[in-house]
Amino acid sequence: MDPLDILTDLENVVPFFQPIFSADEQRVMGYEVVGRYFSDGQIISLGSFFQDEQIPDEYKVEVDQLLLKKALDKALTANEDVSFFFNRSAGLLMYEHGEPLLNELLEYEKKGINLKRIVLEISEDNYPGDLDQFDHLLRYYRTYGIKIAIEKMGSDSSYLDRVSQLEPDILKVNLRALRSEAKGNAFNDVLYSLSLLARKIGAALLFENIEMEYQLQFAWKNGGRYYQGFYLSFPNGELVDRDLLKDRLKAKFHDFITYEKRKLEKFYFTAEEFQAKVLEIVQKAKKGSSEELFELLIKEMNQIAFRMYICDEDGFQNSPNIFKTQHGWVTQNEYIGKNWSWRPYFLENIIRMRNERKGILSDLYCDIETGETIRTFSFPLTESGYLFIDISYHYLFEHEELL
Ligand code: CA
Repeated sequence: MDPLDILTDLENVVPFFQPIFSADEQRVMGYEVVGRYFSDGQIISLGSFFQDEQIPDEYKVEVDQLLLKKALDKALTANEDVSFFFNRSAGLLMYEHGEPLLNELLEYEKKGINLKRIVLEISEDNYPGDLDQFDHLLRYYRTYGIKIAIEKMGSDSSYLDRVSQLEPDILKVNLRALRSEAKGNAFNDVLYSLSLLARKIGAALLFENIEMEYQLQFAWKNGGRYYQGFYLSFPNGELVDRDLLKDRLKAKFHDFITYEKRKLEKFYFTAEEFQAKVLEIVQKAKKGSSEELFELLIKEMNQIAFRMYICDEDGFQNSPNIFKTQHGWVTQNEYIGKNWSWRPYFLENIIRMRNERKGILSDLYCDIETGETIRTFSFPLTESGYLFIDISYHYLFEHEELL
Protein backbone atom coordinates (compact mmCIF):
# COMPACT_ATOMS: atom_id res chain seq x y z
CA MET A 1 0.00 0.00 0.00
CA ASP A 2 1.57 3.26 -1.15
CA PRO A 3 0.96 6.05 1.38
CA LEU A 4 0.61 8.50 -1.49
CA ASP A 5 -2.36 6.51 -2.78
CA ILE A 6 -4.06 7.11 0.54
CA LEU A 7 -3.17 10.78 0.74
CA THR A 8 -4.53 11.48 -2.73
CA ASP A 9 -7.67 9.48 -2.10
CA LEU A 10 -8.85 10.69 1.31
CA GLU A 11 -12.50 10.16 0.35
CA ASN A 12 -11.91 6.46 0.83
CA VAL A 13 -10.39 6.88 4.29
CA VAL A 14 -13.12 6.11 6.82
CA PRO A 15 -13.43 5.53 10.54
CA PHE A 16 -14.63 2.15 11.81
CA PHE A 17 -16.17 1.83 15.24
CA GLN A 18 -15.58 -1.08 17.59
CA PRO A 19 -18.23 -1.19 20.32
CA ILE A 20 -17.12 -1.21 23.95
CA PHE A 21 -19.59 -2.74 26.41
CA SER A 22 -20.02 -1.87 30.06
CA ALA A 23 -20.51 -4.50 32.75
CA ASP A 24 -22.78 -2.38 34.89
CA GLU A 25 -25.29 -1.62 32.14
CA GLN A 26 -24.55 -4.53 29.75
CA ARG A 27 -24.77 -2.19 26.79
CA VAL A 28 -22.54 -0.12 24.51
CA MET A 29 -20.80 2.65 26.48
CA GLY A 30 -18.54 3.78 23.64
CA TYR A 31 -16.53 2.96 20.53
CA GLU A 32 -12.87 2.69 19.74
CA VAL A 33 -12.31 4.50 16.44
CA VAL A 34 -9.94 2.75 14.01
CA GLY A 35 -8.84 3.85 10.54
CA ARG A 36 -9.84 1.94 7.39
CA TYR A 37 -9.20 2.48 3.68
CA PHE A 38 -11.47 1.28 0.88
CA SER A 39 -9.43 0.04 -2.05
CA ASP A 40 -10.79 -1.98 -5.00
CA GLY A 41 -13.74 -3.19 -2.98
CA GLN A 42 -11.49 -4.22 -0.09
CA ILE A 43 -11.33 -2.78 3.42
CA ILE A 44 -7.75 -2.25 4.55
CA SER A 45 -6.64 -1.39 8.08
CA LEU A 46 -4.62 1.81 8.37
CA GLY A 47 -2.63 0.35 11.27
CA SER A 48 0.50 -0.19 9.16
CA PHE A 49 0.20 3.33 7.73
CA PHE A 50 0.37 4.82 11.21
CA GLN A 51 3.20 2.52 12.30
CA ASP A 52 5.36 3.13 9.22
CA GLU A 53 8.29 5.25 10.37
CA GLN A 54 9.08 6.28 6.79
CA ILE A 55 5.86 8.26 6.54
CA PRO A 56 6.26 11.84 7.80
CA ASP A 57 4.23 12.85 10.83
CA GLU A 58 2.44 15.62 8.98
CA TYR A 59 0.83 13.06 6.61
CA LYS A 60 -0.21 10.89 9.52
CA VAL A 61 -1.68 13.85 11.37
CA GLU A 62 -3.61 14.82 8.24
CA VAL A 63 -5.17 11.35 8.02
CA ASP A 64 -5.76 11.28 11.79
CA GLN A 65 -7.54 14.63 11.70
CA LEU A 66 -9.73 13.50 8.84
CA LEU A 67 -10.68 10.32 10.70
CA LEU A 68 -11.40 12.39 13.79
CA LYS A 69 -13.77 14.69 11.88
CA LYS A 70 -15.61 11.87 10.16
CA ALA A 71 -15.93 9.99 13.44
CA LEU A 72 -17.22 13.05 15.30
CA ASP A 73 -19.79 13.67 12.56
CA LYS A 74 -21.05 10.21 13.37
CA ALA A 75 -20.82 10.91 17.10
CA LEU A 76 -23.31 13.73 16.64
CA THR A 77 -25.92 11.05 15.87
CA ALA A 78 -25.19 8.95 18.98
CA ASN A 79 -26.71 9.20 22.45
CA GLU A 80 -25.18 11.89 24.61
CA ASP A 81 -23.54 9.47 27.04
CA VAL A 82 -21.69 7.42 24.40
CA SER A 83 -17.89 7.86 24.45
CA PHE A 84 -15.45 7.80 21.55
CA PHE A 85 -11.92 6.45 21.97
CA PHE A 86 -9.15 7.75 19.67
CA ASN A 87 -5.71 6.17 19.41
CA ARG A 88 -2.82 8.60 19.63
CA SER A 89 0.89 7.96 20.00
CA ALA A 90 2.85 10.42 22.10
CA GLY A 91 4.79 11.52 19.00
CA LEU A 92 1.72 12.39 16.93
CA LEU A 93 -0.06 13.95 19.86
CA MET A 94 2.86 16.34 20.43
CA TYR A 95 2.79 17.44 16.78
CA GLU A 96 2.40 21.24 16.77
CA HIS A 97 2.04 21.16 20.57
CA GLY A 98 -1.12 19.11 20.32
CA GLU A 99 -3.10 22.02 18.92
CA PRO A 100 -4.64 20.51 15.75
CA LEU A 101 -6.43 17.86 17.81
CA LEU A 102 -7.70 20.22 20.49
CA ASN A 103 -8.87 22.83 17.96
CA GLU A 104 -10.87 20.24 16.07
CA LEU A 105 -12.40 18.92 19.29
CA LEU A 106 -13.39 22.42 20.35
CA GLU A 107 -15.16 22.90 16.98
CA TYR A 108 -17.25 19.84 17.74
CA GLU A 109 -17.89 20.94 21.29
CA LYS A 110 -19.72 23.91 19.77
CA LYS A 111 -21.82 21.47 17.76
CA GLY A 112 -22.84 19.62 20.91
CA ILE A 113 -20.18 17.01 21.67
CA ASN A 114 -19.31 17.22 25.35
CA LEU A 115 -15.54 16.64 25.56
CA LYS A 116 -16.05 14.32 28.53
CA ARG A 117 -17.11 11.80 25.89
CA ILE A 118 -13.66 11.89 24.26
CA VAL A 119 -11.11 9.34 25.40
CA LEU A 120 -7.53 9.44 24.13
CA GLU A 121 -5.87 6.01 24.04
CA ILE A 122 -2.27 6.97 24.35
CA SER A 123 0.80 4.88 23.65
CA GLU A 124 4.38 5.93 24.27
CA ASP A 125 6.22 3.36 22.15
CA ASN A 126 9.72 4.58 21.36
CA TYR A 127 8.78 8.15 22.14
CA PRO A 128 12.09 10.07 22.01
CA GLY A 129 10.72 13.40 23.29
CA ASP A 130 10.38 14.92 26.72
CA LEU A 131 7.86 13.03 28.83
CA ASP A 132 7.35 16.01 31.16
CA GLN A 133 6.11 18.09 28.24
CA PHE A 134 3.89 15.25 27.13
CA ASP A 135 2.40 14.91 30.62
CA HIS A 136 1.85 18.65 30.66
CA LEU A 137 -0.12 18.43 27.41
CA LEU A 138 -2.25 15.59 28.79
CA ARG A 139 -3.01 17.59 31.93
CA TYR A 140 -4.02 20.51 29.73
CA TYR A 141 -6.34 18.29 27.67
CA ARG A 142 -7.91 16.99 30.83
CA THR A 143 -8.88 20.47 31.94
CA TYR A 144 -11.35 20.31 29.02
CA GLY A 145 -12.84 17.07 30.34
CA ILE A 146 -11.01 14.85 27.85
CA LYS A 147 -10.25 11.42 29.34
CA ILE A 148 -7.04 9.46 29.12
CA ALA A 149 -6.70 5.73 28.59
CA ILE A 150 -3.38 3.94 28.66
CA GLU A 151 -3.07 0.95 26.41
CA LYS A 152 0.59 0.19 26.08
CA MET A 153 3.50 2.01 27.56
CA GLY A 154 7.15 2.08 26.47
CA SER A 155 8.99 -0.62 28.34
CA ASP A 156 7.22 -2.93 30.75
CA SER A 157 9.35 -1.80 33.66
CA SER A 158 8.18 1.80 33.38
CA TYR A 159 4.52 0.87 33.01
CA LEU A 160 3.50 1.05 36.68
CA ASP A 161 5.51 4.25 37.07
CA ARG A 162 3.65 5.87 34.21
CA VAL A 163 0.29 4.64 35.43
CA SER A 164 0.82 6.18 38.86
CA GLN A 165 2.19 9.40 37.33
CA LEU A 166 -0.63 9.91 34.83
CA GLU A 167 -3.49 8.47 36.91
CA PRO A 168 -5.41 7.68 33.72
CA ASP A 169 -9.19 7.34 33.69
CA ILE A 170 -9.02 3.96 31.99
CA LEU A 171 -6.45 1.17 31.82
CA LYS A 172 -6.71 -1.05 28.76
CA VAL A 173 -5.70 -4.65 29.29
CA ASN A 174 -4.91 -6.69 26.20
CA LEU A 175 -6.15 -10.25 26.64
CA ARG A 176 -4.09 -11.62 23.78
CA ALA A 177 -1.54 -12.78 26.37
CA LEU A 178 -4.19 -15.01 27.90
CA ARG A 179 -4.36 -17.28 24.87
CA SER A 180 -1.60 -19.54 26.07
CA GLU A 181 -2.40 -21.48 29.22
CA ALA A 182 1.23 -21.53 30.35
CA LYS A 183 1.30 -17.77 30.74
CA GLY A 184 -2.09 -17.79 32.43
CA ASN A 185 -0.98 -17.91 36.05
CA ALA A 186 1.68 -15.22 35.96
CA PHE A 187 -0.66 -13.02 33.94
CA ASN A 188 -3.28 -13.54 36.62
CA ASP A 189 -0.96 -12.25 39.33
CA VAL A 190 0.15 -9.22 37.34
CA LEU A 191 -3.44 -8.43 36.58
CA TYR A 192 -4.41 -8.74 40.21
CA SER A 193 -1.83 -6.09 41.15
CA LEU A 194 -3.00 -3.93 38.30
CA SER A 195 -6.61 -4.16 39.47
CA LEU A 196 -5.56 -3.08 42.99
CA LEU A 197 -3.63 -0.15 41.55
CA ALA A 198 -6.56 0.80 39.30
CA ARG A 199 -8.82 0.79 42.33
CA LYS A 200 -6.44 2.99 44.29
CA ILE A 201 -6.17 5.64 41.56
CA GLY A 202 -9.82 5.39 40.55
CA ALA A 203 -9.21 4.05 37.04
CA ALA A 204 -11.55 1.65 35.26
CA LEU A 205 -10.20 -1.52 33.63
CA LEU A 206 -11.09 -2.08 30.00
CA PHE A 207 -10.29 -5.53 28.63
CA GLU A 208 -9.67 -5.67 24.89
CA ASN A 209 -9.17 -8.47 22.38
CA ILE A 210 -11.79 -10.64 24.04
CA GLU A 211 -12.11 -13.39 21.47
CA MET A 212 -13.53 -16.28 23.48
CA GLU A 213 -16.03 -16.80 26.24
CA TYR A 214 -13.47 -17.72 28.89
CA GLN A 215 -11.73 -14.38 28.26
CA LEU A 216 -14.96 -12.54 28.96
CA GLN A 217 -15.34 -14.54 32.17
CA PHE A 218 -11.75 -13.73 33.09
CA ALA A 219 -12.35 -10.02 32.46
CA TRP A 220 -15.52 -10.06 34.54
CA LYS A 221 -13.81 -11.90 37.38
CA ASN A 222 -10.81 -9.58 37.40
CA GLY A 223 -12.58 -6.31 37.90
CA GLY A 224 -13.15 -5.42 34.25
CA ARG A 225 -15.77 -2.72 33.91
CA TYR A 226 -15.52 -2.43 30.10
CA TYR A 227 -15.13 -5.09 27.41
CA GLN A 228 -14.13 -5.05 23.77
CA GLY A 229 -13.25 -7.75 21.22
CA PHE A 230 -14.37 -9.92 18.31
CA TYR A 231 -16.24 -12.24 20.68
CA LEU A 232 -18.57 -9.33 21.38
CA SER A 233 -18.53 -7.23 18.22
CA PHE A 234 -16.31 -6.46 15.22
CA PRO A 235 -15.36 -2.92 14.20
CA ASN A 236 -17.98 -1.60 11.82
CA GLY A 237 -18.59 1.42 9.64
CA GLU A 238 -21.82 2.17 11.50
CA LEU A 239 -22.77 2.59 15.15
CA VAL A 240 -24.75 -0.34 16.56
CA ASP A 241 -27.89 -0.69 18.67
CA ARG A 242 -26.69 -0.09 22.23
CA ASP A 243 -28.65 -3.03 23.55
CA LEU A 244 -27.28 -5.37 20.89
CA LEU A 245 -25.85 -7.80 23.45
CA LYS A 246 -27.92 -6.96 26.51
CA ASP A 247 -29.68 -10.32 26.74
CA ARG A 248 -26.60 -12.32 25.86
CA LEU A 249 -24.40 -10.49 28.37
CA LYS A 250 -27.02 -10.83 31.08
CA ALA A 251 -27.19 -14.58 30.48
CA LYS A 252 -23.39 -14.92 30.50
CA PHE A 253 -23.10 -12.92 33.72
CA HIS A 254 -25.73 -15.15 35.26
CA ASP A 255 -23.58 -18.21 34.42
CA PHE A 256 -20.40 -16.57 35.74
CA ILE A 257 -22.13 -15.50 38.96
CA THR A 258 -23.63 -18.94 39.56
CA TYR A 259 -20.26 -20.61 39.04
CA GLU A 260 -18.42 -18.16 41.27
CA LYS A 261 -21.01 -18.34 44.05
CA ARG A 262 -20.87 -22.12 44.07
CA LYS A 263 -17.10 -21.97 44.35
CA LEU A 264 -17.25 -19.42 47.16
CA GLU A 265 -19.80 -21.48 49.05
CA LYS A 266 -17.60 -24.56 48.82
CA PHE A 267 -14.65 -22.52 50.02
CA TYR A 268 -16.64 -21.15 52.93
CA PHE A 269 -17.76 -24.67 53.84
CA THR A 270 -14.17 -25.94 53.74
CA ALA A 271 -13.04 -23.05 55.96
CA GLU A 272 -15.76 -24.05 58.46
CA GLU A 273 -14.47 -27.63 58.40
CA PHE A 274 -10.97 -26.41 59.20
CA GLN A 275 -12.36 -24.32 62.02
CA ALA A 276 -14.20 -27.32 63.54
CA LYS A 277 -11.22 -29.65 63.17
CA VAL A 278 -8.65 -27.27 64.68
CA LEU A 279 -11.01 -26.22 67.48
CA GLU A 280 -11.48 -29.87 68.45
CA ILE A 281 -7.72 -30.49 68.50
CA VAL A 282 -7.04 -27.32 70.49
CA GLN A 283 -9.69 -28.25 73.06
CA LYS A 284 -8.17 -31.72 73.43
CA ALA A 285 -4.75 -30.17 74.09
CA LYS A 286 -6.16 -27.40 76.28
CA LYS A 287 -4.34 -28.15 79.50
CA GLY A 288 -1.10 -29.28 77.94
CA SER A 289 1.86 -27.47 76.49
CA SER A 290 2.29 -26.25 72.93
CA GLU A 291 4.39 -29.38 72.31
CA GLU A 292 1.33 -31.44 73.05
CA LEU A 293 -0.78 -29.29 70.74
CA PHE A 294 1.71 -29.72 67.90
CA GLU A 295 1.82 -33.47 68.49
CA LEU A 296 -1.94 -33.71 68.15
CA LEU A 297 -1.95 -31.45 65.09
CA ILE A 298 0.71 -33.58 63.40
CA LYS A 299 -1.35 -36.68 64.08
CA GLU A 300 -4.62 -35.22 62.81
CA MET A 301 -3.34 -33.01 60.00
CA ASN A 302 -0.37 -34.95 58.65
CA GLN A 303 -1.86 -35.07 55.15
CA ILE A 304 -2.96 -31.45 55.16
CA ALA A 305 -0.30 -29.27 56.75
CA PHE A 306 3.43 -28.88 56.20
CA ARG A 307 4.32 -26.14 58.68
CA MET A 308 2.91 -24.81 61.96
CA TYR A 309 3.91 -22.23 64.53
CA ILE A 310 2.49 -19.84 67.13
CA CYS A 311 2.84 -16.03 67.21
CA ASP A 312 1.78 -13.41 69.72
CA GLU A 313 -0.58 -10.59 68.78
CA ASP A 314 2.32 -8.43 67.57
CA GLY A 315 3.55 -11.11 65.22
CA PHE A 316 6.52 -12.31 67.30
CA GLN A 317 6.88 -16.07 66.90
CA ASN A 318 7.02 -17.72 70.30
CA SER A 319 7.21 -21.34 69.20
CA PRO A 320 9.61 -23.10 66.85
CA ASN A 321 8.51 -23.99 63.34
CA ILE A 322 7.16 -27.51 63.19
CA PHE A 323 8.05 -28.45 59.62
CA LYS A 324 7.35 -31.52 57.53
CA THR A 325 10.33 -32.88 55.60
CA GLN A 326 10.59 -35.98 53.41
CA HIS A 327 11.74 -37.86 56.52
CA GLY A 328 9.02 -36.64 58.82
CA TRP A 329 8.31 -33.64 61.05
CA VAL A 330 11.19 -31.63 62.50
CA THR A 331 11.45 -28.79 65.03
CA GLN A 332 13.18 -25.62 63.79
CA ASN A 333 14.13 -23.56 66.85
CA GLU A 334 15.83 -20.82 64.82
CA TYR A 335 12.40 -19.33 64.07
CA ILE A 336 11.64 -18.42 67.68
CA GLY A 337 11.56 -14.65 68.10
CA LYS A 338 11.09 -13.80 64.42
CA ASN A 339 8.50 -11.17 63.63
CA TRP A 340 5.84 -11.45 60.94
CA SER A 341 3.83 -8.26 61.49
CA TRP A 342 5.24 -6.78 58.26
CA ARG A 343 3.46 -9.35 56.13
CA PRO A 344 0.40 -8.20 54.17
CA TYR A 345 -2.88 -8.57 56.11
CA PHE A 346 -1.08 -9.92 59.20
CA LEU A 347 -2.36 -7.41 61.76
CA GLU A 348 -5.78 -7.11 60.08
CA ASN A 349 -6.15 -10.86 60.45
CA ILE A 350 -5.05 -10.83 64.10
CA ILE A 351 -7.68 -8.22 64.95
CA ARG A 352 -10.33 -10.06 62.96
CA MET A 353 -9.56 -13.37 64.69
CA ARG A 354 -9.59 -11.73 68.09
CA ASN A 355 -12.91 -10.00 67.49
CA GLU A 356 -14.64 -12.91 65.80
CA ARG A 357 -12.96 -15.62 67.94
CA LYS A 358 -12.60 -17.68 64.82
CA GLY A 359 -9.94 -18.89 62.42
CA ILE A 360 -9.25 -17.56 58.93
CA LEU A 361 -8.37 -19.45 55.78
CA SER A 362 -6.06 -17.20 53.74
CA ASP A 363 -5.98 -16.49 50.02
CA LEU A 364 -3.61 -18.39 47.74
CA TYR A 365 -0.05 -17.16 47.81
CA CYS A 366 3.44 -18.28 47.04
CA ASP A 367 5.42 -19.48 50.07
CA ILE A 368 8.75 -17.62 50.14
CA GLU A 369 10.70 -20.62 51.42
CA THR A 370 9.30 -23.54 49.43
CA GLY A 371 8.14 -21.60 46.38
CA GLU A 372 4.87 -23.53 46.44
CA THR A 373 1.39 -22.10 46.17
CA ILE A 374 -0.22 -22.48 49.58
CA ARG A 375 -2.88 -21.24 51.96
CA THR A 376 -2.59 -20.64 55.69
CA PHE A 377 -5.22 -21.42 58.27
CA SER A 378 -4.73 -19.18 61.29
CA PHE A 379 -6.55 -19.67 64.57
CA PRO A 380 -6.85 -17.66 67.81
CA LEU A 381 -5.66 -19.83 70.73
CA THR A 382 -5.78 -17.15 73.43
CA GLU A 383 -5.92 -13.34 73.61
CA SER A 384 -2.21 -13.26 72.81
CA GLY A 385 -1.50 -16.54 71.05
CA TYR A 386 -2.27 -17.29 67.42
CA LEU A 387 -1.70 -20.61 65.67
CA PHE A 388 -0.66 -20.70 62.01
CA ILE A 389 -1.02 -23.85 59.93
CA ASP A 390 0.37 -23.77 56.38
CA ILE A 391 -1.54 -26.06 54.05
CA SER A 392 0.41 -27.96 51.42
CA TYR A 393 -0.08 -27.51 47.70
CA HIS A 394 -0.61 -31.23 47.44
CA TYR A 395 -3.71 -30.97 49.63
CA LEU A 396 -5.02 -27.88 47.80
CA PHE A 397 -4.53 -29.64 44.48
CA GLU A 398 -6.78 -32.45 45.63
CA HIS A 399 -9.47 -30.01 46.80
CA GLU A 400 -10.45 -28.03 43.74
CA GLU A 401 -12.43 -25.38 45.64
CA LEU A 402 -9.22 -24.35 47.38
CA LEU A 403 -7.37 -23.50 44.16
CA1 CA B 1 -6.31 0.91 20.77
